[in-house]
Amino acid sequence: MAEGKECPVKVAVRSRPLSVKEEHDGATRCLEFIEDKSQVVVALEKGFTFDYTFDDETTQETVYKKCVAHLVDMVLQGYNATVLAYGQTGSGKTYTMGTDYHYSNQLTETDIQGIIPRALIDIFKKIKDMPDAECLVKISFIEIYNEEVYDLLSTVRQRKSVHIQKQNSSVVVLGLEELKVNSVEVALSCLKKGCETRTKGATALNANSSRSHAIFTVHVEQLLVDGYKKKSKLHLVDLAGSEMVRKTKSEGDRFKEGVNINLGLLALGNVINILCTEGGRKQQNYIPYRNSTLTRFLKDSICGNSLTVMIACINPADSNLVETVDTLRYANRAR
Ligand code: ADP
Ligand code: MG
Repeated sequence: MAEGKECPVKVAVRSRPLSVKEEHDGATRCLEFIEDKSQVVVALEKGFTFDYTFDDETTQETVYKKCVAHLVDMVLQGYNATVLAYGQTGSGKTYTMGTDYHYSNQLTETDIQGIIPRALIDIFKKIKDMPDAECLVKISFIEIYNEEVYDLLSTVRQRKSVHIQKQNSSVVVLGLEELKVNSVEVALSCLKKGCETRTKGATALNANSSRSHAIFTVHVEQLLVDGYKKKSKLHLVDLAGSEMVRKTKSEGDRFKEGVNINLGLLALGNVINILCTEGGRKQQNYIPYRNSTLTRFLKDSICGNSLTVMIACINPADSNLVETVDTLRYANRAR
């Protein structure tokens, strides 16, 4: 397992295609992918190496198979795992994760289907093939906005606050819905409902969803023949836009929002960075999870005994070079 020598965090980079508008505005691609070296070169100059590189022609299916499918297997073996999509707004995080009505509501695989529905289909398929364990699957879906946790599956229409606590080495969230789901259809309807609540909530706040982190969690409980219970979870995270701080610096409330977004992303970067050094992993107690709601929430699933994949999403346009280099630097630091 991940404990010990190897870094429990793998980093992928994924470029989306140039949009019609970008092409129309005369933008050109400033990225080159060197597949055999797992490298991306920006503006013919700076090269970055990652665990996985996905150019703009890579399909959703390939992204899932190469960097998520094995995490699902680990979760079914009892480990916790996390998939994170990082990047500026418009870089493809929501498309990649499937945290949107359009990318999530199809039951059968389609080309645009993102990671969350693929993982759900995979999990239910694999559970059927596990003869000697009784499996219970639960779903929770939250949003972290301005350091507060909101339950996207709550039956109450307005979003309600919940609280994060630690019990032994596990994170427990009080007041959070965990819906039992016995089929992939029901699980997908939870995803769809949560995505809608997220969009509506963002509109009501006159904000938009790029200012919050959305975390869809699949909890798996296995009752084994000897009466032993195994619990694990898979967090699927669509992070807030990484550009927010710079863009919102001058405006009052938005400034606070920007600072809070930055807090989460910085804390996440620090935690991952420490986990990727051998000395850091040995000193679990000193990893700074407490610095943000995001890292407190993910604590038992981004650690030496879990597996994490961060997918850094980038926009290939030359007009966007500065943000892209920022994202690649953040992702590179995480390795
Ligand atoms: P973000 O969540 O990072 O703000 P989105 O996922 O909403 O970005 O993506 C922005 C736009 O780019 C959307 O219209 C989306 O459909 C499109 N897009 C993103 N990634 C891809 C991709 N790999 N292939 C095709 N279109 C993509
Ligand atoms: Mg998005």
